[in-house]
Amino acid sequence: MRSPAERRELLKAEYLKARDCTDCALHQTRTTVVFGSGNADAELMFIGEAPGANEDRMGLPFVGQAGKLLDKLLGEIGLQRGDVFIANTLLCRPPGNRDPHPKELEACQHHLFAKVELIEPVTICTLGNFSTKLLRGDPTGISRLHGQEEVRVVGPRAVRLYPLYHPAAALYTPATLEMLRADFHRIPEILAQGPPQQPEPVHEVPELEELEPEPAAEARSDQPEPQPAAPQLGLF
Ligand code: URA
Repeated sequence: MRSPAERRELLKAEYLKARDCTDCALHQTRTTVVFGSGNADAELMFIGEAPGANEDRMGLPFVGQAGKLLDKLLGEIGLQRGDVFIANTLLCRPPGNRDPHPKELEACQHHLFAKVELIEPVTICTLGNFSTKLLRGDPTGISRLHGQEEVRVVGPRAVRLYPLYHPAAALYTPATLEMLRADFHRIPEILAQGPPQQPEPVHEVPELEELEPEPAAEARSDQPEPQPAAPQLGLF
């Protein structure tokens, strides 16, 4: 188990790697990467879509109107930004705030999964379609999934995944805001469930040659054909 200080240091190192990222074409038009911000030791993580103009300028996630709404909703359940970690599917702003392209999501996902692996959140709230689809590996949309928590394996760990409407979608649509608020108010109940059961660690299966020395050439002819290594061999 890592200490909060260790997590912070590791996250800093991850940020230093991410800040000069050129893995996709978005680096050509960004002002700055938006790595994410908050508590490196958070139990609760929010994952939005991509930085907008304000975020691109300031290097912080959710600093515009949608961010203000997110802060307000956090306040309503007794939390503030410093209690959680907020990131996006993309580090860089798509020009004109267009939707992320599949190639960009693919190129950027290792940055997101590295953060999840370091922070080890118990609960991840995906905000909107892009992060929900990415983390679930499934095209089902947010209007079908919002407010339904499920245990999902993200990277090496199981988390409680809780899809929510994106706050930007709720800014001008009162019915969406009502649903987002109702879902948000259930976050404490989901956090109270604690961490889900973790998957068994997977051990590397050794190559067959590593397990048995090669038989002598003359002995080989009367030996039965070697059987493929049992996949369980490496588990004991
Ligand atoms: N919308 C997002 O999805 N992320 C941000 O950081 C800001 C707005």
